[in-house]
Amino acid sequence: ERLTAGGAGETERAEEAALRPQGLADFVGQPQVRAQLSLVLEAAKARGRTPDHVLLSGPPGLGKTTLAMIIAHEMGRGIRVTSGPAIQHAGDLAAILSSLEEGEVLFIDEIHRMSRAAEEMLYVAMEDYRVDVIVGKGPGATAIPLELPFFTLVGATTRSGLLPAPLRDRFGFTGHLDFYSAEDLHSVLARSARKLGMETEETGLTEIAMRSRGTPRIANRLLRRVRDWAQVRGDGRITTAAARAALEVYEVDALGLDRLDRSVLRSLCTRFGGGPVGLGTLAVTVGEEAETVEEVAEPFLVREGLVTRTPRGRIATRAAWEHLGLTPPDAG
Ligand code: ADP
Repeated sequence: ERLTAGGAGETERAEEAALRPQGLADFVGQPQVRAQLSLVLEAAKARGRTPDHVLLSGPPGLGKTTLAMIIAHEMGRGIRVTSGPAIQHAGDLAAILSSLEEGEVLFIDEIHRMSRAAEEMLYVAMEDYRVDVIVGKGPGATAIPLELPFFTLVGATTRSGLLPAPLRDRFGFTGHLDFYSAEDLHSVLARSARKLGMETEETGLTEIAMRSRGTPRIANRLLRRVRDWAQVRGDGRITTAAARAALEVYEVDALGLDRLDRSVLRSLCTRFGGGPVGLGTLAVTVGEEAETVEEVAEPFLVREGLVTRTPRGRIATRAAWEHLGLTPPDAG
């Protein structure tokens, strides 16, 4: 199991769902997005209208799905959840759109991965609340317009720059989620620990918060791993000692870097002399898709000042060499 980005088991996913904040007031951090979204929702409520379409961008695990659910909850409406990769044919999208109920939220995760044909259908649906169903084939084919109820599309993407402009322009509000501060993650953890009935030491939570890669999903997952350790080897409480010992077992280092992060850094330093090296080449040497390196590992490495992006490629900073316990090439 990768401890961080993807791949949780079924129980984990159930627990993760149970930990999702339901209302905007329970959503920790991201004050700007929260304030802006709150205004959008209040205004829609006051007018008795369906809120404008919302685009949420940011790295995995920062709360995009959670916010989509919050929008539905706050509006007292249902939510339909799907993803770009699941919508390969325009027909897949037509089926979902035509079954929407008035005011429902349609959440499309990884919306940048939708097929072209589906994308074009979505433009019309977002703007005119209509889909054109094609009946027949060849020259005799006709488009039968089908009216849709008003709905709110919430699209999520790891990078809003990946979206074609015509799609981006059709969202009334775009919120960008950033990595969370250690204080905010501490609040996320305190809330989760309370919900899961765990006994905790403040400093234990701080230790986990500092090593959670700025990501609530990772914070919650690490909390469960520390609970495992505490139950099996400790006294059941989430203490600093338990946190340190568990995180060592799971190879989460002092900065919260996981195995992928470290292998990207190590490859950059030891194979390419610290760079610059192109993303594709770097991804091949760590055995990952370029997209995964770019969207999952890199944003955090850049934000921690370990990697910089230049037109000629990725470069390891001095801090990266030092973090790996290596001597930078220009030292001495
Ligand atoms: P994304 O869709 O961006 O990948 P999710 O919305 O699925 O991320 O969030 C992952 C988990 O992190 C959720 O189960 C939720 O419990 C937790 N979480 C995310 N953002 C927050 C937040 N702001 N406050 C509290 N918990 C959060």
